Amino acid sequence: MAARQGELLAKPPRRMRGQLMHVCDAGPGEGPRCVVQMRCRRCGYVSDWLQFDTVTEAKRGLPCQKCKNDHPDTPTYPG
Ligand SMILES: [Zn+2]
Repeated sequence: MAARQGELLAKPPRRMRGQLMHVCDAGPGEGPRCVVQMRCRRCGYVSDWLQFDTVTEAKRGLPCQKCKNDHPDTPTYPG
């Protein structure tokens, strides 16, 4: 177990490069959640309303599916 943890720590943090979309609008969602619309500053794509636990979580950004499709070689977040 200790060795496995050491391996994980030894890996350098993966740098996230791909184009991220940023929050452009937000509103209340179901229960404690919220819904957020994201926009890509590169291609102007605006997402559907997406559910997040918090707006803060959404503000970390999401990979732009349109840019990802246009530039499949650009690495983005998994999933
Ligand atoms: Zn884009």
